[in-house]
Amino acid sequence: MKSYRKELWFETRTRRAYINITPQIEECLRESGIREGLVLCNAMHITASVFINDDERGLHADFERWLEKLAPEKPHSQYAHNGFEDNGDAHLKRQIMGREVVAAVTDGKLDFGPWEQIFYGEFDGGRKKRVLVKIIGE
Ligand code: ZN
Repeated sequence: MKSYRKELWFETRTRRAYINITPQIEECLRESGIREGLVLCNAMHITASVFINDDERGLHADFERWLEKLAPEKPHSQYAHNGFEDNGDAHLKRQIMGREVVAAVTDGKLDFGPWEQIFYGEFDGGRKKRVLVKIIGE
């Protein structure tokens, strides 16, 4: 069995962002040389997500509105977590959007449905953060 590991770095200027990282994951897959197996991709931070969905601008705006309804950023004082920090909302948003994705690798490619794309979801940006890519198989 082969094993591959890589960290991808992100630094968004905005507090929240959705970045399509599918091309980077495909590049990792090529580098790994693995043809059959699994890709695990997870945020290494507790205020960011990795998830699979459609690369459609309207949907991303809908995510933003929906998450702001569930866990509004402001006022910061509404969260018990915000004693020394102001990112209580970001922890909750990440919890809903998920930590990681696992995708099948078949014949050297991500074995996806027609509209599936992998995203990095940032909920407390403005600093460097990492995503782990682990690929196992043969
Ligand atoms: Zn925090």
